[in-house]
Amino acid sequence: MLTGQLPLSINPRKLAHAETRIAGSILVTDLPRFAEAILDPSGEVALDLQFLVDEEGFYVVQGTLSVEVKLTCQRCLQVMRLPLSVTCNLAIVWHEEAAKAVPAHYDPVIVAEANVALTDLVEDELILALPIVARHELTECHFEGNVEASDQDGDDNAEANTPSRENPFQVLASLKTDT
Ligand SMILES: [Zn+2]
Repeated sequence: MLTGQLPLSINPRKLAHAETRIAGSILVTDLPRFAEAILDPSGEVALDLQFLVDEEGFYVVQGTLSVEVKLTCQRCLQVMRLPLSVTCNLAIVWHEEAAKAVPAHYDPVIVAEANVALTDLVEDELILALPIVARHELTECHFEGNVEASDQDGDDNAEANTPSRENPFQVLASLKTDT
């Protein structure tokens, strides 16, 4: 098992043959596209990956990636913290054509050369795990819109009740026609 200072470049097929497990952390700043998608690129991604060759001969990488990110809540525009825990189930293939043959329970990853940067192997998985629209849970959100919305409902009800009251001018009108 490789731990601590992780190698920057790995040979995933070689690691799969050796059934190597890699556990440790990588800096978020080493994942430039992921870092750009979140508010604060400080911090680390903890990873724990098992490389293996499955019964069908696929080079497989299984494990977890975890990191807490800060995003902007799209409802209240304030910071929200979101713990991400990504389960990886990757099949390493040489080219696009081979990717089509990968069983559905794997995500194919094309590694056209012997070696690949460890960060390249996991960056897309992290990006895909980010919510399309980040929002706090309603109970944690700082947005006041829901309170306003319920006030609005109250006004509507008050208006709806008004017509049931007797209109004094209508009474006057009926007195006039009596004379
Ligand atoms: Zn919010």
